[in-house]
Amino acid sequence: MQIRCTNCHRPFAIGKDTVHAALDAIHAENLNHYNVQCPHCRRVNRLSPMELKRAAPDWQPEQDSADNPEE
Ligand SMILES: [Zn+2]
Repeated sequence: MQIRCTNCHRPFAIGKDTVHAALDAIHAENLNHYNVQCPHCRRVNRLSPMELKRAAPDWQPEQDSADNPEE
């Protein structure tokens, strides 16, 4: 996904793997944003889960118990 740095206003891209890793971390740790570092100025940019989900609509949260025979 394309991000515009809030500090230097230059665009940079993060890969889908990173987007998925960010969503996993947000889901696992119950975060309300994820920090990515701008490659130009090295300042941290906050990404909201909404922006990340828009970039990775096929992402699904990991299920703890996919198959529970007790049910
Ligand atoms: Zn920057």
